Formats: sequence, structure tokens, C-alpha cells
Amino acid sequence: MQTTHSDQFQDIREAVRDLCQQFSGDYFRKIDEARGYPETFVHALTKAGWLAALIPQEYGGSGLGLTEASVIMEEINRAGGNSGACHGQMYNMGTLLRHGSAQQKDRYLPQIASGDLRLQSMGVTEPTTGSDTTKIKTTAQRRGDRYVINGQKVWISRVQHSDLMILLARTTPLTDVKRKSEGMSIFIVDLREAIGHGMTVQPILNMVNHETNELFFDNLEIPAENLIGEEGQGFKYILDGLNAERTLIAAECIGDGYWFVDKVTAYAKERIVFGRPIGQNQGVQFPIARSFVNVEAASLMRFEAARRFDAHEPCGAQANMAKLLAADASWEAANACLQFHGGFGFACEYDVERKFRETRLYQVAPISTNLILSYVAEHILGLPRSF
Ligand SMILES: Cc1cc2nc3c(=O)[nH]c(=O)nc-3n(C[C@H](O)[C@H](O)[C@H](O)COP(=O)(O)OP(=O)(O)OC[C@H]3O[C@@H](n4cnc5c(N)ncnc54)[C@H](O)[C@@H]3O)c2cc1C
Repeated sequence: MQTTHSDQFQDIREAVRDLCQQFSGDYFRKIDEARGYPETFVHALTKAGWLAALIPQEYGGSGLGLTEASVIMEEINRAGGNSGACHGQMYNMGTLLRHGSAQQKDRYLPQIASGDLRLQSMGVTEPTTGSDTTKIKTTAQRRGDRYVINGQKVWISRVQHSDLMILLARTTPLTDVKRKSEGMSIFIVDLREAIGHGMTVQPILNMVNHETNELFFDNLEIPAENLIGEEGQGFKYILDGLNAERTLIAAECIGDGYWFVDKVTAYAKERIVFGRPIGQNQGVQFPIARSFVNVEAASLMRFEAARRFDAHEPCGAQANMAKLLAADASWEAANACLQFHGGFGFACEYDVERKFRETRLYQVAPISTNLILSYVAEHILGLPRSF
């Protein structure tokens, strides 16, 4: 069930649903149990062109916008899958498209569109600085025609299943810049050349089956031509990528939210206790109805964030608000779904516990709920800066 924008993007929705039907809950459950990577699924998505949605047609992609990309991600999660295995390529694309040079686009985009290269990773977070991104300690020092990278990153996802990574590093020390957001730069790191030659990957076993890693850089040398845009402006560029990421992850939460609502609604109609369907009790109906309302409202904010991103209008406020609303709505729907499945919610075969774990992540990553509220308080409402 869906009442908002239900008549839009039907062609995309149906095509993605058709593809996802080949990858049932059973497929994702088995991957989850084995802590594996859904390689066949990601390959099928790539082959069908969905992961090249944002790449302009002249480079072999479909030239769609973030709006359509968000619908693709939503449908994957709505079908019971987990876009976390592959969403990086979508939001990293924004950074490369908007700030990459013509040479970088010529070099990478056709190969990404054809599926020969994957750009699935983005390295921002560090263990000692966390959400305080401008304090990152990883440095990139220019030496002739190379940059030399030293430092550490944590929670960097899909590195084992990507060929390229976008990396944020300091090129000017924090003490030498006027504004703390200055002096950082972004680079394309070719993981095939970097791993074992100055970069080490340490996988992190975690609550969801999310391939994520700690990265160590010890004099990793990368060609100077891998700098994206101007040196020192990287934080500004990465914000575009982060706004795209927040909007897409909002869409995934919306897909999760609809999945939970549909699943629990069907179950509440058929589960008979005390001689009637449990869904006949208002104590069961209301939490489901409320989470449905919240998923639909979050979806509208997602479309507004995506519209603004596609129109090159400022969209930080909408992207952050969409992420908060959608993460809260999917978490609320997840709780209702688990609760009203009773004991069966805990049985892996229903997929509820897996999706419950997966959607919980989005209260923390890629930006925690508190940090969004703090952004809204300070940057939208003009309340005094808290940190
Ligand atoms: C599975 C997974 C995958 C990830 N993938 C990536 C990736 O691919 N690339 C990448 O760069 N990062 C990635 N991350 C990192 C993610 O973006 C961070 O975990 C997130 O931004 C929170 O940062 P932190 O973990 O350092 O928490 P911290 O910054 O240490 O914060 C801890 C808690 O304290 C709260 N807090 C901190 N300061 C304040 C304050 N001033 N006011 C109120 N509350 C506050 C936060 O809200 C949070 O709940 C991933 C994380 C996970 C778990």
C-alpha cells in the first residue's frame, strides 16, 4: 500500500521489482547467515544498468536523477533486499560527476557504467574523531606528482567489493586554515593498487551483514591526478555526496518501512488469537497505521530533497530531515512488525529480525539522529552553536 506518488515512476518500480523477485528473502537470509556479499544480486543490478542510473548517457549510463535513483534504492529494500551492499556507487557518483575533471570522468565513468569498475566506497570516518569530521587526522602530502597518504579510517564499507574509493584527507593542517572546513581534499584511490602497497584493510564483524572495514594508510602513494577538484575544497565537495547519501538512505528506510508495514498488515489479518485476527484489535492497528503515516510523510520529504539536489538547489536541510524522518519511520515500523509477529518475529525464516537489524543501523549511520537534530537547531532555527 502506498498513497503518495504512487502513480509516479511506475516503469522504474516495476522493472526493479521484477529483478528483485529473482532474489527472494531466502537468498538474502542465506547471505546474511553466511555473512556473505550478495554478489549475484549486485551483478544483476549492474548488468541491468540500475547502478549506472546517475551516469550521463554520453558515458554509457542512463542519465537519470537522484529522484529516480532514490526510487531504485527504495524498491530494493521494499522487496526485502538490502541496498547497503551497493548504494555507495549511487552517492559517490554525485561527487565524481559534479566535481571530477573531464579526464577523470572519461577515465572512470564508462567503465563504471559497463560494470568493469566499481566505485562503492567512501572513506570519511576516523576512529579518534567520529562525527567531528573537520578534525580528521588522515593527511595527504603532495610530493612531486604524487600525494602520500598517512592515517586511519574506520567503518569504511564495501572496500572488499569495490575497485575505487573516494577518500577525504587533510592537505593543510587544521592550525593553518581560517575555517575548519578548509584544507581538506578528496581523492580517488584505486583500491587494486593501494591494498598491500601502503593501505591495509581490517574487516569489522558487526551486527548487520554490512561489509565494513578499518583502513590503515602508511605512506600510500597515489598519483596527484587523482585529486578531485581543487586542493583544500574537499569538504565542500563531499557535502554534495553526503546530501545524496542521506537522501538515498532515506529512500532505503522508506522501502524498509513499507516492507515492515506490508508484512505486519498481512500477518495481522491472518493470525487468529482469541478467536479473531489480531489486526482486529485497535491496540495492534494503531501502531501499524501510525508507522504507515510516518513512512508516507518521510517519503514526501525524500522527494523534496531529491528534487532540490537534481535542480542544483541547496538541499542540506531537506536531505537531513528526510534521513531523520525516514530512519525514525522505518524503525517505528520495524518495532511494530516485530512486536505483532510475536515469537515468530524472532524466527529468521520470517526475515523480520534481519530487516529489523538492518534498518536499526540508520539511526547511527551515515549520520546519527542527534547530529541531524543539532544541524536543524543550529543551521535552520538559528539556535546557539552547541559544539
Ligand atoms: C555499518 C556501518 C557502516 C558505515 N559505513 C561508513 C562508510 O562507508 N564510510 C564512512 O566514512 N563512514 C561509515 N560509517 C561511519 C558512520 O558514518 C558513523 O558511525 C557515524 O557518523 C557516527 O559516528 P561515530 O560512530 O564516530 O559516533 P560518534 O561521533 O562517536 O558519536 C557517538 C554517539 O554520540 C552522539 N553524539 C556525539 N556528539 C554529540 C553531540 N555533540 N551532541 C549530541 N550527541 C552527540 C552521536 O549522535 C552518537 O550517537 C559506517 C558506520 C557503520 C556502523
